[in-house]
Amino acid sequence: MAYPNVQLYINGEWRNARSGKTGPVLNPATEEVIGTYAFAGKEDLDEALEAAEKGFAQWKKVSAFERSKVMRKAADILRSRADAIARIMTQEQGKPLPEAKMEVLAGADVIDWFAEEARRAYGRVIPARAEGVYQLVIKEPVGPVAAFTPWNFPINQVVRKLSAAVATGCSIIVKAPEDTPASPAELIRAYADAGLPAGVMNLVYGSPAEISEYLIPHPVIRKVTFTGSTPVGKQLAALAGQHMKRVTMELGGHAPAIVFDDADLDLAAKTLAAAKFRNAGQVCVSPTRFLVQESLYEPFVEKFVAYARGVKVGNGLEDGVQMGPLVHDRRIPWVDGLMADARQKGAEVRTGGERIGNKGYFYQPTVLTNVGKDARMMNEEPFAPVAMIASFKDFDEVVEEANRLPYGLASYAFTRSAKTANALAAKVESGMMTINHLGLALPEVPFGGIKDSGYGSEGGSEAIEAYLNTKFVSQAGL
Ligand code: NAD
Repeated sequence: MAYPNVQLYINGEWRNARSGKTGPVLNPATEEVIGTYAFAGKEDLDEALEAAEKGFAQWKKVSAFERSKVMRKAADILRSRADAIARIMTQEQGKPLPEAKMEVLAGADVIDWFAEEARRAYGRVIPARAEGVYQLVIKEPVGPVAAFTPWNFPINQVVRKLSAAVATGCSIIVKAPEDTPASPAELIRAYADAGLPAGVMNLVYGSPAEISEYLIPHPVIRKVTFTGSTPVGKQLAALAGQHMKRVTMELGGHAPAIVFDDADLDLAAKTLAAAKFRNAGQVCVSPTRFLVQESLYEPFVEKFVAYARGVKVGNGLEDGVQMGPLVHDRRIPWVDGLMADARQKGAEVRTGGERIGNKGYFYQPTVLTNVGKDARMMNEEPFAPVAMIASFKDFDEVVEEANRLPYGLASYAFTRSAKTANALAAKVESGMMTINHLGLALPEVPFGGIKDSGYGSEGGSEAIEAYLNTKFVSQAGL
């Protein structure tokens, strides 16, 4: 499949923006323009809102049993197109082809899981105090949803929101990422081809700020869900708050990865380094501050550096490439700025630290030690293939460092002690913790943060609840 020019999907129709306006899509590995996306204006958004209102009125009447059938079909269609969609994703996002394919297939699993879980979104009966009274708790879809998703996992970030909405009987307008518009459009196409009725699902691109400022306060929209940076999330949550809309916010992180001296060193270094350089570090749950107990510190740094030097960086379409480019040209000056600041504050560059070449947004897998706590990178989400390794003496010191930042998304730990593992799970302030392995982000487990990393969950039964209102009905027999 050649890279497509991406259209809007509104009221069951693929079409260009009413104004005819488009934006360019670049391949971050080559910097070539590979296509365009349709750039929605107010007229298009009004049509999407009208469609979402009508789509909701129709879809909420369809039983969960029937909804799940359409969803299972969409999952099968997505799977059958995985190879072609993965090529599209790699061209627009940069990640290696096998990772792109894995994301498409995992997307199909997400659809299947939500299709089944929403069939079990039961209410309950609460025993009454008086005879003949029935107290019912009923779950109802929240209504039309506005979803804003980023470019790092172009399908995964959409599929969780879209599938939870569709499974519970909501309608949705997705504002997908302009940097990577075509692979989310292929997800929407799989749902459309599976027979999801017109209006239930709508897809737009354009100016993110203008679209969110228009959709969030609009009376048709009842829920807002966003994945992206903490500053933007706070703005959107504030706007949603003014209009009393339900909100899910999946925001930035700065994950601590803690390695105790009783850990399996090889396992810890290999697992954490692979996690760090996945998707060039552009992952909200990417491990970022590596905190290693003193006796293992130097051997850990050595192994991590060796891993980083062995990572094959290149165009994700080429065989054997393990890490692609950063997603767009804005990321290079951002990382360079963080690096300059870290160097100035005494950081030691153990490997990497530079852009690779001047064509394509490639950056060296980078390992830093002795990064001062006042360095920007130790406080702001780098979203880049940069690891910062520091040593610690004891449990209390490392917990204090882990909890130092306002973020609280993911955390990682390696230890052979169950006592230490339990104490960490209790004391580290994060929405998710995974110990001695990588165990995050399966559809059936909660996925979300606390503190400045947001609120709400994008996985597990909690993700279904986020799209449901609770209604209480008390009924006395006559
Ligand atoms: P950015 O802040 O411009 O964009 C991040 C995402 O938010 C994009 O998808 C963008 O379209 C969207 N966005 C931005 N302003 C918006 C608005 N007013 N209304 C609605 N959507 C809006 O910057 P960027 O350079 O693309 O990424 C920078 C930072 O964003 C990263 O360093 C990282 O912290 C964060 N980010 C987080 C995730 C995540 O998975 N949590 C994903 C992508 C980016």
